[in-house]
Parts: sequence; C-alpha cells; structure tokens
Amino acid sequence: MRYIVLFSLILAAVAPACNLDHLDPLEDPIAYEMAIKATSAIKAAEGVQPPGFGAGYDQLHLDLDLTLVYSPFDLDGTATWTLESDQNGLSSVEMELASNLSVTAIKRGSMNLKYSRSGDVLTITLDDAFNDGQQFTIAIDYNGAPTSGMYAHVANRGVIHTFTEPWDSSEWFPCYDMPDDKFTCDQHYTVRDDWKVAANGELAPIVDNGDGTRTHTWEADFEMPTYLIAMAASDYYLYHDSFDTGSGSKSIDNYVYQSQSENSQIDLAPTADMIEHLSTLFTDYRYTRYGHMITQIGGAMEHTTMTSYSSGLITGNNNNDRVVVHELGHQWWGDWLTCEIWADIWLNEGFASYTEALWFEHLGGQQDLQDYMEFFKSLYFSEDNHNRYSVYDPTQLFGTTVYKKGAWVLHMMRHLMGDSDFFAGLQEYIDAFNYKGTATTVEFIGVMDDHYTGDGSLDIFADQWLIKAGYPEFDWYWWTTGSGSSTVLHIQVNQTQSTDDNTPSVFVVPIDFEVTYADSSEVITVNVNQREQHLTVNMTQAVNGLTFDPNGWLLCTQDESTAVEYADATARLREEGVLINWETSGDCIGVDIYRQGGVFEEMLVSGLNPSGGYLDATIPGEGSYSYRLIAHASDGTRFIFETEEIDWHRSGDPIALSTPWPCPATDSLTVSLSLPADSTVSLTAYDLAGRRVATLVEENLSAGRHEIAWETAELPAGVYLLRLEASGELRTTRAVISK
Ligand SMILES: [Zn+2]
Repeated sequence: MRYIVLFSLILAAVAPACNLDHLDPLEDPIAYEMAIKATSAIKAAEGVQPPGFGAGYDQLHLDLDLTLVYSPFDLDGTATWTLESDQNGLSSVEMELASNLSVTAIKRGSMNLKYSRSGDVLTITLDDAFNDGQQFTIAIDYNGAPTSGMYAHVANRGVIHTFTEPWDSSEWFPCYDMPDDKFTCDQHYTVRDDWKVAANGELAPIVDNGDGTRTHTWEADFEMPTYLIAMAASDYYLYHDSFDTGSGSKSIDNYVYQSQSENSQIDLAPTADMIEHLSTLFTDYRYTRYGHMITQIGGAMEHTTMTSYSSGLITGNNNNDRVVVHELGHQWWGDWLTCEIWADIWLNEGFASYTEALWFEHLGGQQDLQDYMEFFKSLYFSEDNHNRYSVYDPTQLFGTTVYKKGAWVLHMMRHLMGDSDFFAGLQEYIDAFNYKGTATTVEFIGVMDDHYTGDGSLDIFADQWLIKAGYPEFDWYWWTTGSGSSTVLHIQVNQTQSTDDNTPSVFVVPIDFEVTYADSSEVITVNVNQREQHLTVNMTQAVNGLTFDPNGWLLCTQDESTAVEYADATARLREEGVLINWETSGDCIGVDIYRQGGVFEEMLVSGLNPSGGYLDATIPGEGSYSYRLIAHASDGTRFIFETEEIDWHRSGDPIALSTPWPCPATDSLTVSLSLPADSTVSLTAYDLAGRRVATLVEENLSAGRHEIAWETAELPAGVYLLRLEASGELRTTRAVISK
C-alpha cells in the first residue's frame, strides 16, 4: 500500500504551497500543473535543494536500463552515463542520487570504481584522470523503491510513472540534476507483459523475455535536461492519431487508461490541429512524433515528445483543451529550448501559457484572445494582491505570476513590437541557441531587441515587467479645448500604484485609447513615461468619448475619474482689464466665471473650456476685485475656486463725483460725475438727518463726464450729502448752501 501513502503525501504538500483553496480547479486546470511542480519546490524550502555543485563534466548520453515492479514497488537496473570532462585532470565525479536507493556497483568498462555516499551526493573515484574534452562512460548499478520522482499508483489496475520537475530526477536515477546540462537518452524498461510503457523519443521493437515480462526501449536522439526525461507504464489502451505540418504524416501516440479510452479520444482530438497551427506560428514542430501518457499526476507535464496528462483532466467534453495546448506549446518553449537556470522558468511557463491564448485567438479571433488574457489577469491579480514577486527569479517557481503574468509580458511585447516583428523574433529565438539548447532571459530579450524597430531598446520593458514586480494602476480623465477641426484632446494619466523597492513608481508604456466621434471612432496610442502626465493630441473633429485600452493589451488597472479633481485660477492686471487664467483636471465639462467687487457678485460668462483664459474688460471702476469660478463635472458635481484679489486702478475714466460749485452755493449749484461705461445712475441729495431732499438723476447715462445742475433756492441753508450710485459703485460728496 505504499502508493497510497505516497499520493496523500503529495496532496498534503500541495495545498499550503499554492493557495488553491480559492481557485476552481476546473476553471484553471493549469493550476494543477503548478501545484504538482511545486511539491518539489517545497522540498527546496525544507532544505533538500540540490547542492548545485559545479559538475566538472558535461552529460552527453544516458542509457537507463531498469526493471520495474509495481507491487511491492521496486526498481532495479543500471544507469550508464557517457560524460565529457570540462576540466583538466578530472579524477572523480559527483552526482546526486536519493540516499534511499542502494548502489551495488559502479564500473568503467570492466573496471570496478570506488565510490562513496554522503546524503544524496554520490562521489565516484575514476580509475584515470580525464582532461578537458575527453569522454568516458560509467555504469551505475542501483536498486530500491523511490519515494519521489517515480511513483506507483493503484489507479487503472496499477501505473508507474515519473514526475521530477524541477529537481527530483535524482530521486530515481543518478545525475547532475540541474537544467543547464542537456543530453540524449535511451530508456529500457522491463515490466509485466500485459503492460505498455511510454517514454521520450521513438519506441524500438518490444522484446518478449518469455518470463512474463517484456522490455520496451525508447530512444531519444534529441537533448533533454534531467527533468524532461519521463516514463509511464500501465495496462494502457494505445491509439494513434497523426498530423502533417507539410513534411509528411507524423504519429501522435496516446497511452490512455482502458476505462477512459473513449473520453480520451475526444479530449485529445484537437492535438493534431494544435500542432499544425503552432507550427505556422512558432516554426515547424521539432520532433518526429508526439503523444500523451495518462498518469496520476495532479495536472500535466511537458515531457519531451510525450506529455504526461492527468486522468483527472479527462472529461470527454474537451473541457481542458487549454491544458492540451499548454503542454504542446512547451514542446517549443521548455522542451526544444529550455530555461537555462530556474530563475528563467518563465521562458517555459509564460510562453506555454501564452500559447493557450494564441490557440483561442486562432479559434475565436481578437475578442477571444482578449477574454482569455482578462482571465489570466484576474488570476494574476488574485495572487499578486497578497503575494507580490517578480516574473524573473521568482520566489514561487511555479506561481501564478510566472505563468499568467509571464504570458502577459509576451502579450505586451507583441503589442509593443507589432505582430510581424514579434513572431519573427520568436522564430529566430527558438533556433538562436541550438548549440546549447537552453536560453536565459537576457538572451531572449537580446534576440527580440534585434527585431524591435521602436524607439530605444527593450531594456526598460524587460526591467519593469520581468525584473521588477507589480503593475501600473492608472487614474485618468480627459477633456477638450478648441472646437471642430482645431479640437485639442487633453488626457491626464496618473499612475497611483503604491511603490516599494520592487514596484516601479513609473511604468513606461504605450496606452491605446479608442476615440469616439459623432459617427466614427479610431484608436490612438499615447506613450506614458511619467507618474502624472498631461498629454495633448490635435484632433480634426469634436470628441464624444474615450475608451482606455479597448483591445486589452496592457496589464494594469484603470479608473476614469468622473469628478473635477483639481482646479486653479489666477488674475492678472492687463492694460485692457483683468486677465483670468484657469486650469482644471478631472472630468470637467465647463467653467463659469463670476466677478466679485465688494459685496456685489456678477456672472460674467458661462460654459467655458476646462482650461483657458478670459479677459474681463468691463470692470466698472476703481476698487478691489476677485473672481469666483465654478467647474462643472459630467456627473453634476461642481468644484468652486477663486482667484486672489486684484486692485483695479487703471481705468481711464473711473466713476467719480466732483465737489459741487460754487461753494457755498445759494440758488443753485453744479456737480460733475464721470462714468467708465454706460450705466444706470442714481444721484440723490440728503440732509444731515438722513432725509432725502432731492433726486437729481435717476436714468441711464452714457459713459463719460456729465454736469448736473441743482436748484437750491427753496432749501434751508446747511450741509447736504450727494450720493451717487452707478454700476454697483457708491460715491458721496458734500454741498454747502448759504442764504
Ligand atoms: Zn507548463
């Protein structure tokens, strides 16, 4: 019953590491891939990470010859390594091998070699010293029951399978268990004769040993890192499909459970179309065949030419096509070309995840692409909200950020470069590093940079999206000035993300806006490179509306402000009057101006642009004035703001009331008044008790100087007050009458 214990251990380890509680696995079956891979990452956290020693040698070829027994689970056989020294005088070899597996002999040719073991490190003393470039072969006999890396399960009347990413290969065969060293591999498995075995490469004729067992040999003449070497054995139902990318028919070999044979054939049916489509996008499919082996892993795994696929994902209704195409995408990104170190894991997972989106774009067009990327965005946000880390060198090797944000990095790079340059770059990238079969993030960016024809390089792009973490959060609003063919579109874009050491305060990005006119629309692109940025675009007609990133090319949040957020105004003296300048931000649809002089307030003008200038040339007379402005937002709210007070002295003809003459007067007197503008004038006489004794003027008078005569013969002698009111102004003077 060992297998039950093993399986429950895996499940227990998965749950806390991946926070899958809130995810519906059916909604994101790739989460299973991430979960199962993460079990090894947990080991790393527990201190079981491989030592990462410099190997001192290059692994060229592995020949694995193993006899496997399902119950009780047992492995027994030989791992024969062809190695090449990469230093002079190499006299010993260190490899990793799980300490629970027993080594019984190590030979070079017929020569027994000495070896020692310390934990998981196996040190082999060579019988000769090998110089740089010299090759040699050692055969390691070993046996035991692996506790991880290779598993035996009860499902489907028994299945043995492997799963090792990132560093569990040494749990079932001795190796330098790091991703930078790729090699060819032949695998021979002897199992009960009613079982089939699936593995990487091409299946050689099966040998019946006549003892109730058969030996299955798989030969891979392409190079793989340790973690892509895989096998599965069970009483499989085997069926074949085929694809043709233009160079002849190639086989798809599917090893599925007997009980799921019909549903498997439905679910895996799109594989051929997928290979043919991805071959047009990424360059021709690289291998001579492809296939799936159904196993009891939690999700799926892109083993080279033979993807491992969970029986739990078989539904019979193509529910998990995205998993099928994800693992297939890995055959280019993560199998043919593999990440050089684990810090570059997004080169595998971001690419395979974006392959999902590309497949749905192929089926359903731009809208389906956009919808799928939105789905990724929401998954990424839900992780990033509580656990922010970078795509490159992630703290969670198989986290959502690596998969979903990694896909978004490619999506945004595609938009920045344009389809033709982006896909040309990808096609060059897959071949650029054939000499080693691995690539780093820096190498990838370098190739894409060669195809990038925009301003500058992709360095800022790579730094902000891959090396740093997080995403921009935009607050924006817009308004226009001018009208008709001289309309100017103003867009204020503010980045509001809170920043830390790892989150940029400014993301440098292009933003698309869809501009809506009376009877048409167009998409314009503006480049943002400041935290608070005011952009202007000259338009040829009035703008009715603006939509942020209408086709979903930017990983961000965005919020269009619907209130006036800020306003300021100044008043300045000019020869002709007072010049008022104002600026508003936010959603402002119009500005009204009121003039305040003393206790009087008068509306001057309404419905002005959100920002602009206005000359007040109708100032009624000398005095202090300020201006009150009201900015209206489209949601009905108002923002009120004022200028400072300004003293107006410079009218050529201010309101004035002279001293009457003669003084003292007897029968009559004359007084003069000056008006700067046509005004309604009231000139009234009072005695010192405050009683009105005469109304001299009560009418409209034109601008200029007027002389007013007053008959005073009937009045008692005394002092009288003359009071002038005009345009809200008040002037008084004294008149003395004697008898
Ligand atoms: Zn993957």
